[in-house]
Amino acid sequence: MTAALLLVLALGGLGALLLLGDGVAAARGRGPRVHRRLGAFVRSVERARAGDGRLTDVVYQSALRNGRRVWIRFGLGPRGSARVRVAVATCRGVPPVGVRLEGALSRLGKRLGRREDIQTGDVAFDERFFLESSRPLDGRRALGRELRQSVDEAFRRFGADRLHLRPGELAVEADLTACPPGRWRELIRHLDRAAALVEVKPLRIRGLEGERDVACGVDGAARCVYCRDGLSGDEDDLVACERCRTAVHAECWDEHGGCPVLGCDGRAPERPRLRA
Ligand SMILES: [Zn+2]
Ligand SMILES: [Zn+2]
Repeated sequence: MTAALLLVLALGGLGALLLLGDGVAAARGRGPRVHRRLGAFVRSVERARAGDGRLTDVVYQSALRNGRRVWIRFGLGPRGSARVRVAVATCRGVPPVGVRLEGALSRLGKRLGRREDIQTGDVAFDERFFLESSRPLDGRRALGRELRQSVDEAFRRFGADRLHLRPGELAVEADLTACPPGRWRELIRHLDRAAALVEVKPLRIRGLEGERDVACGVDGAARCVYCRDGLSGDEDDLVACERCRTAVHAECWDEHGGCPVLGCDGRAPERPRLRA
């Protein structure tokens, strides 16, 4: 074994030790205390709210069983209120979209022509929310019916007043009083499902003209939306929905009895022309 390799192994071991001792070590130092268990994090938050420590000094950082990373941290609101930010990791392919409730200020800004608001065409949704994106076309495309419902729920059920989608992350922000610790576990599950709705990427499918959409894993790899297996586009058992242009395994399409994309009622798939 070379000295360099030994050094790498030793450093690797050190890294693992540091990671294990993270919560404790950070608590003694100046950095925020990082919790990996939601229960312990919530207890820490309750202690800070009771006056023992500062909320901004505790952070939750973990991963769901499907590998998706999760963060919860705090900030201060305009009037010194505690703000909580709950975020999940997404693949890098999602477009940037900022969502907040339409208010008097954003309406005025729009009337003066100062603000560009994305319109999704869903009147109730467009009246209720103010949407911004540096890539409006992609943003509008991402805000399909399922995601709009999901965004609406994040605001109504979980007290969010801001939602941000950006390459690699989906996050909501709320006043801590509007989104108390008892709701966080469910909110994380909600964000996990919402993230899966927007994690699509284009892929060339052998035997079809142009590109089709496929699911995109947290790792950025192309996947079948139904079975979540990796796809290269070169497989000879793929079909694509004629409505939403999503490509999946023929077997997955058949097992689901049509297009497996939520909210799509595609029945007749395109089949690639493959030479034997
Ligand atoms: Zn599949
Ligand atoms: Zn479809």
